[in-house]
Amino acid sequence: MTHPAAALRAMRPVKSYACAQCGREFTASDERARYCSNRCRQAAKYARLKAEKDR
Ligand SMILES: [Zn+2]
Repeated sequence: MTHPAAALRAMRPVKSYACAQCGREFTASDERARYCSNRCRQAAKYARLKAEKDR
């Protein structure tokens, strides 16, 4: 028995991207994916907030 959401995810093509934060290559099925991990996503978000604050 397969979970419907898992089946949908399996149908999506997995592509490889370069992380916008650390530059590391990672694969994701989400075409909007920009970061290799939550850690990088948070780091990028924090860096942007900090940059705006320093302005
Ligand atoms: Zn990364």
